[in-house]
Amino acid sequence: AAVEGFDLEEVEGAIEEAGHGPLPVLAVVGRPNVGKSTLVNRIIGRREAVVEDKPGVTRDRVTYEAEWAGRRFKVVDTGGWEQDVLGIDASVAAQAEYAIEAADAVVFVVDAKVGATDTDEAVVRLLRKAGKPVVLCANKVDGPSGEADASYLWSLGLGEPHPVSALHGRGTGDMLDAVLEALPEAPAQTFGTAVGGPRRIALIGRPNVGKSSLLNKVAGEERVVVNELAGTTRDPVDELIELGGVTWKFVDTAGIRKRVHLQQGADYYASLRTAAAVEKAEVAVILIDASENISVQDQRIVTMAVDAGRAIVLAFNKWDTLDEERRYYLEREIETELAQVAWAPRVNVSARTGRHMEKLVPGIETALAGWETRVPTGRLNAFLGELVAAHPHPIRGGKQPRILFGTQAGTKPPRFVLFASGFIEAGYRRFIERRLREEFGFEGTPIHISVRVRE
Ligand code: GDP
Ligand code: GDP
Repeated sequence: AAVEGFDLEEVEGAIEEAGHGPLPVLAVVGRPNVGKSTLVNRIIGRREAVVEDKPGVTRDRVTYEAEWAGRRFKVVDTGGWEQDVLGIDASVAAQAEYAIEAADAVVFVVDAKVGATDTDEAVVRLLRKAGKPVVLCANKVDGPSGEADASYLWSLGLGEPHPVSALHGRGTGDMLDAVLEALPEAPAQTFGTAVGGPRRIALIGRPNVGKSSLLNKVAGEERVVVNELAGTTRDPVDELIELGGVTWKFVDTAGIRKRVHLQQGADYYASLRTAAAVEKAEVAVILIDASENISVQDQRIVTMAVDAGRAIVLAFNKWDTLDEERRYYLEREIETELAQVAWAPRVNVSARTGRHMEKLVPGIETALAGWETRVPTGRLNAFLGELVAAHPHPIRGGKQPRILFGTQAGTKPPRFVLFASGFIEAGYRRFIERRLREEFGFEGTPIHISVRVRE
């Protein structure tokens, strides 16, 4: 479509960019101190300190967006967790396992100055089992004299070691070229559904909200169809569960059932697990303990699912314990603390008594429908035309920016591009989003709106 004041190429480019589907996921794994976080910083092109000087400092952010040579992807950093009570091998393996599970390709970082250690060998075994494409990064090769160190890493049997200095940027371009070759255009996980497999649900929430109880309830009362084996020697990580006459894939239930109690690093471990589950799923059922105050941790988990662009259902658990007063305050808390997902379907359940279990499926179906909604361009522009006529953008500096044309560039979640004759203020963007939701639904899904302004 031609848009007044934009050339066709610009319009098509903007639509293509905004319409990208779910991005492929790259995991960066390796022992502590090999330079994973430094490398992730380099890849995402940000100076901000992801690297912490204090060992044992936990972070909850684990997924970042990156772009190289015009291709976008997500990076999962596993550098935020230091050694813990499990011992170094077990902790490195455990976090690498989650990250690898959710990834489409892996960068395995080894300190070339140290060479391959037993722990590195353990990770190599994990990588072999997972069968994902691997790019071997021989880090801390700060100058030509280090290249020999890198070549020793051929012995790991992972192919060519890429000599890199994450700190100075040396060799990272060549390594990223190799990453792009290894990385599929679209994540295998999300496009599995295109061939009609079961829809994927991530059951997430902070510790003790009742995830394993809920899982037992739905898997116990209904029939567990089959335990799918993800690897030959590993535990099943996903479970197929029949609910409401439909088979669903609950992802990463192994992480829910196998309750890992850790002293240090537990928060980070939980965040990584949640991020991995969210990446693998289409819809996140976020469990919240209704008997307690909504916490910052609950909000972080909500943000993770929103940022990942997943369909969302909020399930308030432990409803059996609520008295009238708590119910009253809970409603107020939901309004203020969960305003960012006011559009999400909500169910009030009890994993203990089984209350309202049957409402989960309709909630999930509603959210997935919203997530997949496509508004035809004609209808969208008729709507935008009326909206702009009735509520024009405020005049700024004697000019009135107008929305000239809009189109939905993608789904899962819905993504829109609007072309405008001038800068559109944040408040007006929010107004448009609100009206779009009123008009077209989008229940249970984040929506993205990008605005292109005529030069
Ligand atoms: P992580 O634990 O694997 O995430 O490792 P970090 O990214 O925190 O790095 C550990 C230490 O190695 C830090 O002091 C970094 O500055 C240092 N480091 C990381 N990459 C390089 C590199 O390419 N060359 C050198 N000389 N040091 C590096
Ligand atoms: P997870 O850490 O999220 O997997 O939580 P669990 O399923 O282990 O539950 C944590 C605690 O909450 C356990 O003591 C459960 O018995 C309890 N619990 C879970 N769901 C309910 C519920 O609906 N009502 C009540 N009263 N307790 C619950």
